[in-house]
Amino acid sequence: MKISVSRVPDEGLREQATYDPTALDMARFDIRLDQACTVDVVITKADQELVVNTAIHCPLRPTCARCLEEFASSVETRAVFTYHVQPTDVVDITDDIRQEVILGYPMIPVCRPDCKGLCLVCGQNLNAGACQHHTS
Ligand SMILES: [Zn+2]
Ligand SMILES: [Zn+2]
Repeated sequence: MKISVSRVPDEGLREQATYDPTALDMARFDIRLDQACTVDVVITKADQELVVNTAIHCPLRPTCARCLEEFASSVETRAVFTYHVQPTDVVDITDDIRQEVILGYPMIPVCRPDCKGLCLVCGQNLNAGACQHHTS
């Protein structure tokens, strides 16, 4: 999303942007993105500062580190970006949004807190049922 400083009125500007995650190169080896990220933006300017308040919603498809099943999750975060600008500048906030989403990724994705994972012997997904190595 690009913001023309000259287009921002004194009272501020409210916008919504949609990002195609495949174009943003945000995937991680264990996180797939298959839906658009939406970003609500409130832009204000003061002197030579452009202040961009963002509310980011980005659906994710992480792979559980325990059972290796893909599950639905999302990054929900708010961030404020401040840019030093000249009146004729055009500010591209895309890379800051991208950084913010990546910061919001789970360190180790787990499909649910009590995920039982896989049997280390036979590979059975223990959420689906016990194997002969796990009788309980
Ligand atoms: Zn799991
Ligand atoms: Zn087993």
